[in-house]
Amino acid sequence: MTDLPRIPLAGVIGHPIAHSRSPALHGHWLKRYGIKGHYIPMDIAPADLVDALKMLPKLGFVGINVTIPHKETILRLADVVTDRAALIGAANTLIFRKDGKIHADNTDGAGFMANLRQLAPQWQPTDGPVAVFGAGGAARAVIAALIEVGVREIRLANRTRIRAETLRHDLGAKLVVYDWVHARDMPDGAALVINATSLGMSGKPDLRLPLERLERGAVATDLVYTPLMTPFLTEAQARGAHIVDGLGMLLHQAAPGFERWFNYRPEVDDATRAAVLSA
Ligand code: NAP
Repeated sequence: MTDLPRIPLAGVIGHPIAHSRSPALHGHWLKRYGIKGHYIPMDIAPADLVDALKMLPKLGFVGINVTIPHKETILRLADVVTDRAALIGAANTLIFRKDGKIHADNTDGAGFMANLRQLAPQWQPTDGPVAVFGAGGAARAVIAALIEVGVREIRLANRTRIRAETLRHDLGAKLVVYDWVHARDMPDGAALVINATSLGMSGKPDLRLPLERLERGAVATDLVYTPLMTPFLTEAQARGAHIVDGLGMLLHQAAPGFERWFNYRPEVDDATRAAVLSA
């Protein structure tokens, strides 16, 4: 009997996982490009993570996405960690290599940047300071990417100040830490303003920062994408900013994994957005 080629499997692990939009996204791309493959959501509890990582390649998985609460732990379990994942301290994309090694990468920062380039192509890294609200895992990925493309000054405020100080310690002197109570001053003269907190997400309080210092024509973007139009973006738009929602970051961060697993570079366009929004 001849061996049929294995149909590649990929998926996303998290705990819980039901909320993830990744299966709808990868499912859309698989169907659109006629690729034989499957993308499966898997609820893996922390205690089962090590066993799951051993089993998945044997079952035909070529790689997976990783989400909360495994993004940091996974770094200790991977054999090869990219520089950017090490710098960020978390991974979201794994490749199960043919030699048995697990390769871990973090594509959140690149996804953020690709979204910005697509939806605010006028923005240039040297346009002026960037203001970032929030210093969690997503902020860390975004700030590392901003430094990499050549932004010269990044203003950062976080409710828990020590987290912002730690980020400056880890990522360098281009960061200027503001106290959370002075965060309203940060948009003054900034070319790009970013909400990287979870505030504004459905079920969470709004980010209540008066944006009276936001420049007309500045770019404002939110990492939150449920809802697409957050109170932060609504206010920024009313003050004449060019706004970019957070959905594109989610779509773009997924593309490199899809390409590695299924050998096809997927497009992020209106059809992709519509497929994920209607899921
Ligand atoms: P995280 O590590 O848990 O960080 C949460 C951030 O929100 C921290 O800065 C936290 O401040 C702040 N925060 C939470 N509640 C607050 C409150 N009541 N007042 C002031 N600040 C508050 O989460 P994360 O992974 O960085 O994610 C942040 C957001 O980005 C989430 O909404 C997530 O869904 C979104 N995200 C989007 C994408 C995308 O592809 N678009 C990718 C990744 C993340 P403290 O440090 O003081 O707690």
